[in-house]
Amino acid sequence: MVERTAQDIRRRNRFDTLRRVYAAPAPVSRQDIAAATGLSFATVANLAAELLEAEVLMEAGHEESGGGRPRARLAVNADRGVLLGIDIAETGIQAQLFDLALTVLRSVELPLPRAEVEPADVVDTVVAGVEQLLAATGTPTARVLGAGVSVPGLVEREGGVSAFSPYWSWRDVPLRALLAERLGMPLYLDNPLKASTVAEMWFGAGRDIDDLVVVTLRAGVGAGMAIDGALYRGATNSAGEWGHTCLALDGRECRCGKRGCVEAYVSTAGVARTLAEVSPDSPLLRARDESAVVEAVARAAAEGDPAAVETITRTARYLGVALAGLFNLFNPQVLVVGGLLADRLDEPLLRQTRDAVTRHAAPQPPRAVRLQRSTVPDNPVSLGAATFALEGFLDDRDTFGPVKAGRRAARAARTGTARQPGGSPARAQPPRHHA
Ligand SMILES: [Zn+2]
Repeated sequence: MVERTAQDIRRRNRFDTLRRVYAAPAPVSRQDIAAATGLSFATVANLAAELLEAEVLMEAGHEESGGGRPRARLAVNADRGVLLGIDIAETGIQAQLFDLALTVLRSVELPLPRAEVEPADVVDTVVAGVEQLLAATGTPTARVLGAGVSVPGLVEREGGVSAFSPYWSWRDVPLRALLAERLGMPLYLDNPLKASTVAEMWFGAGRDIDDLVVVTLRAGVGAGMAIDGALYRGATNSAGEWGHTCLALDGRECRCGKRGCVEAYVSTAGVARTLAEVSPDSPLLRARDESAVVEAVARAAAEGDPAAVETITRTARYLGVALAGLFNLFNPQVLVVGGLLADRLDEPLLRQTRDAVTRHAAPQPPRAVRLQRSTVPDNPVSLGAATFALEGFLDDRDTFGPVKAGRRAARAARTGTARQPGGSPARAQPPRHHA
């Protein structure tokens, strides 16, 4: 138990250190990392030595330190290998290839069948996407350090199982095992809510804050939470299924089988349904699918179409009431809204949503109600999935194996950055409790 706790703290400190390097616009010194994370310099030096040894970090120039020895700057070693991030959404997949600095090298989008989607359809599509990415970039499979896969619905992460996907009525599909038969690389399975939240924590609005809620609004709807700087998963990884909390008693039917769920109002299908209530004959309803209806509503509202404007106003009221509950529960420093609805309906939706939150949430200090769009460029779900693969690579015992640990100790003894007694790094602040 004690050993696990020490390991958890070490893992958490390693992520904090690395997140700081990823978040910085330019290479950073160990002193900068220590100042930004609150870790002691000795701990940062120790972790940096480990990450340099594993070739995850590299030295990138020096900075003057006012008379003393010049300080080495650290950067991510982008060429160490590649990562894959795969966003399986309801209507298609997006697969992206990243370098280790999480820069997108190449993307591919492939549609899924429109009607009944079976696990085999998804596996075939993902495999085709991965093969296209590797072939187009001339990347051998051996260079792939890991692939993160996001699938909507409840995910049993340890076993890599899609436990329940309401959109396709899947139950207990061993998706990771099915993909592993076809792709020879480490695979990590989770859902888009967790992936988006991790992307914001590493690369977006959550970089410098500890308490964050990330709401995703697209065909599926849900929330991800970071509490005290760590992703919150709940007892069985299903925390954040906010899309299926009840917004209206005896309200609209939801695809999960219940009535009045948040998702029935503030998803792509929810917006189309609101428009149909506002104006049953609106030509905007003839768009090819529900995502296209949302895009048509955004364009028409910008031109002053009264039905489109009213649809956004009603959607903002539904969303504001639903988000007020999250503000009351979590008191986040920032609540990030992402996904197709936020991307397309943008400020007209968010401005009215803020008003509705202010009316419906319990009184909060003014600075506490910060509601903003995602700041992750590109798709936060595939980026977050790739970040899970990065975390998995860092958790792999082989990445920081015993042979490397021996060499590291020898080097630390030479450079005077030996680890603390007992192997547990010192901290300038008390350890946090989440790993
Ligand atoms: Zn529901």
